Amino acid sequence: ITSNPLLDDVDEPVGILTRATDDAPRANATLLVLVRNNELKGLLGTMRDVERTFNSKFNYPWTFFNDKPFSDVFKRQVRAATKAECRFETIPREHWDTPEWINNDITEVSNKILVEDNIMYAQMGSYHRMCRWNSGMFYKHPALKDVRWYWRVEPNTRYFCSIDYDVFRYMEDNDKTYGYVINIYDAPQSIRTLWPTTLEFVAKHPEYLHPNNSLAWLVDGNSRPNHHRIANGYSTCHFWSNFEIGDMNFFRSEAYDKYFEYLDQAGGFFYERWGDAPVHSVGLGLFLDQSKIHWFKDIGYLHQPYYNCPSSNKCRGCKAGRFVTTPSMNPENCINNFFKYAHAD
Ligand code: GDP
Ligand code: MN
Repeated sequence: ITSNPLLDDVDEPVGILTRATDDAPRANATLLVLVRNNELKGLLGTMRDVERTFNSKFNYPWTFFNDKPFSDVFKRQVRAATKAECRFETIPREHWDTPEWINNDITEVSNKILVEDNIMYAQMGSYHRMCRWNSGMFYKHPALKDVRWYWRVEPNTRYFCSIDYDVFRYMEDNDKTYGYVINIYDAPQSIRTLWPTTLEFVAKHPEYLHPNNSLAWLVDGNSRPNHHRIANGYSTCHFWSNFEIGDMNFFRSEAYDKYFEYLDQAGGFFYERWGDAPVHSVGLGLFLDQSKIHWFKDIGYLHQPYYNCPSSNKCRGCKAGRFVTTPSMNPENCINNFFKYAHAD
């Protein structure tokens, strides 16, 4: 039985220096949402949560992205859900479309194999494009050119705990780069060649490896030997990126962006189903100082089926310590791996 770090009380004020009443300057930040017009209802529920727990106190702008233009109904209802500024952005085709070097015949054949391997969404071209955009395109959108921090929000997610400090300024003031809530294993069949391709890149560019990296976390082969074998040397443990608070300067850095370009050329976003979560995680694990990664244990969160449920009187509707409603799925949680090989804060 492993310890459950969520059962540690979190009612001490994490962000005491960054309260809503502070006069100090706000961060250069946005709430960032990739969403389709038909997800409006699920988005409004999530916006209600984010506004209630956090943004009604801090008023950070929302930026919405879509590969198609947003409808008028969508824009009207979203604007009505917040008093903060709303920006509606269309993704340029050259950031979204399948790149011309991808061979559709190969995609079709390899996706059939992924379907047989029970990889969800394998045959959906749009899902592959979405993962690629979230991996290496979002921070290149012209609308974010002058923005540094983002908090990724997905429709149909829940937020349970009142957040009474400015999380962006917390990151800035504490010299953090990336914040997460959930760590889980990935389906190894979706990323068979991600790690070998990563090693090729690192062999070409050893100078990008950070001396205080999280490599030991990435290559752990003890916790899930089968995953490690099928994913050819990667444990598959990753930051679940449907929630993340990050510094886009990291993703825009030469190391990460060249890494993304290398992966993109290799074709695994289409020939396999590389997710943005393992891609972000491997990039962060190799190129970033591990002390700059922060677990937001005080942010109560649900993206079906996984939770981050703190023990705190600031939370409503989240059972302290819960990770998943089906206890047999508790082993999908690998947050203790990150603590073991990196750190626990
Ligand atoms: P899952 O969490 O892996 O099951 O994938 P989701 O269906 O939740 O998609 C992840 C995010 O990308 C969500 O914010 C979706 O709204 C968004 N998304 C997925 N596919 C598309 C797409 O084709 N167009 C747009 N605009 N957003 C998409
Ligand atoms: Mn989702």
